[in-house]
Amino acid sequence: MRHIAIVGSGPAGYYTAEAALKQWKDGVRVDIFDSSPVPFGLIRTGVAPDHQSIKSVARRYETTALSKNVRFVGNVLVGRDITIDELRGLYDGVVLATGAPNDRKLGLPGEDLPNVYGSAAFVGWYNGHPQFAELHPDFSHDTAVIVGNGNVALDVARILAKSGEEFEGSDIVAHALASLQAARIRRIVILGRRGPHQVTMTPKELGELAKLARACPRVDPADLPPLAEDAGLDPGMRKTMGHLRSFAAAETSANDNGRDGAAEIACPGREIAIEFDFFAAPRAILGTDRVEGVEIERTRLADGKAVGTGETYHIPAGIVIACIGYQTSRIPDVPYDEQGGRFANVEGRIMSGLYCVGWARRGPTGTIGTNRPDGFAIVEKIDADLGAWGEAGSGKMGRSGFEALAAQRGIDYVKFTEWQKIDEAEVANARAGAPREKIVEVDRMIAKAHPSVQES
Ligand code: NAP
Repeated sequence: MRHIAIVGSGPAGYYTAEAALKQWKDGVRVDIFDSSPVPFGLIRTGVAPDHQSIKSVARRYETTALSKNVRFVGNVLVGRDITIDELRGLYDGVVLATGAPNDRKLGLPGEDLPNVYGSAAFVGWYNGHPQFAELHPDFSHDTAVIVGNGNVALDVARILAKSGEEFEGSDIVAHALASLQAARIRRIVILGRRGPHQVTMTPKELGELAKLARACPRVDPADLPPLAEDAGLDPGMRKTMGHLRSFAAAETSANDNGRDGAAEIACPGREIAIEFDFFAAPRAILGTDRVEGVEIERTRLADGKAVGTGETYHIPAGIVIACIGYQTSRIPDVPYDEQGGRFANVEGRIMSGLYCVGWARRGPTGTIGTNRPDGFAIVEKIDADLGAWGEAGSGKMGRSGFEALAAQRGIDYVKFTEWQKIDEAEVANARAGAPREKIVEVDRMIAKAHPSVQES
């Protein structure tokens, strides 16, 4: 029998478990550890609450989770409750699928001022991540600045711009919905340090901005490269450019309308502007007691890189959200690649018996589906490394060894069937039309999972 521990129950973790079942069938036992009492990681706390179709992939993970050979072990923090060396002693292969839950820093003066957030914190806040439930962002100013030109920047802009009705059917948490509905934001500026051809936004997500009930996306036509230059782009990027060009065309027609009254108005009645400010690198966050604005330097491209032109300006703003990428959390005794913000690894191998997959391996890039081949590839590597033992495995204890250790240490872990009780409670508590109302306090989650524990 082979015993595999996967650390992290997000997409990378479940795809690895699925691959392990395919590879070894009844010859494997998989334990999926998570620091949270609830599974699915990024699907629950990263994917936007109004993107329910993306979240539905969790049903596929549920099929894997309910296999008799797979077990969820929630509410266990590896590195605190159990060390990596202990896990390596118990399991034939330990796969770190811990994602990249921490914000990269801008490294700018003023970054620590109140109401400046990284996207992990801000997205975590509206998605009900217990760590960020008490963020209390202030939306009383009319301008928000978002830094970054990726899909997370789009998620954040869309969430800031949506009306209450547009959240129907989403699982945005009640505290965020109430706060956003009272927001006074009328201008959302998305800063890109490079140009339109360098964005990492995908067309479907960018196109959503054009369909918002009360917001209008705007691009300065002067920022666009000549149309002929789009020909060399890959098809997805060409579609992305199509959207940016249509936002710019709407801008032109709106301006024409202002001049001669002849052209169609671009966004009639939409009171929120989402402005793309390209070739714009933030240089400082301004303010004394809280953020009051952003100092920006105009850039130009040199060999694909943004270089400052020396021209600066500033945008008054009451909230800044940096959507500039993420880093993997460190685990004691696991080598870390500082530059990449992930575990140091060679094609997923960290050291004997220790592996990594997904964002913990390659950094925060790619879609959820990218993790599937990643999971299958790591299982092939583990199979090759275990080759010497074959079907018999190494004789390690696996889950029975963990159970003994958990009993000895009093680790109050949560099983998948116990998560299902939390799930039921969340579904039962949903507002009309919503799939669930997430529980955002860990002690309340545990109380639902283990009803013998008093709810505080
Ligand atoms: P991303 O696509 O890597 O975008 C990060 C952005 O931040 C880039 O525009 C980057 O500019 C900019 N940036 C980095 N450091 C900066 C700095 N110091 N100052 C100014 N700008 C800076 O990352 P992401 O948006 O966080 O998304 C992560 C992954 O999740 C991506 O693969 C994304 O597609 C995926 N995702 C997908 C969806 C979806 O499919 N619906 C939703 C959300 C996220 P440069 O290019 O110049 O470095």
